Amino acid sequence: MGRLFLRYLDGPSVYVCSNCNSHLCMNDEIISKHFHGRYGKAYLFNKAVNVSNGPLEERQLMTGLHVVCDVYCVNCKSNVGWKYKEAYATTEQYKVGKFCLEMTKLKKETM
Ligand SMILES: [Zn+2]
Repeated sequence: MGRLFLRYLDGPSVYVCSNCNSHLCMNDEIISKHFHGRYGKAYLFNKAVNVSNGPLEERQLMTGLHVVCDVYCVNCKSNVGWKYKEAYATTEQYKVGKFCLEMTKLKKETM
């Protein structure tokens, strides 16, 4: 078993895994706060760290059919949201490569 190296984000406010406190994303990387996850409120982030990708799947979301993969905290393996891999509607293309992370799975830390 190798030691797991976690990245630390340097910013005035970061979002961490609510389960294990691993840094996941920065407040500055929020694209939209008006997303809906499986468990309620979700934010769209430009970037996330310390996450691993699950298998690709097609999923019918409120805004149409997308190809997504679930993302997991690399430290505690909890599902924290998903990543958009493809969007079929041209109006939804801006989400591709971005992360929709569940606010019930994240905690905001302010320094
Ligand atoms: Zn975690």
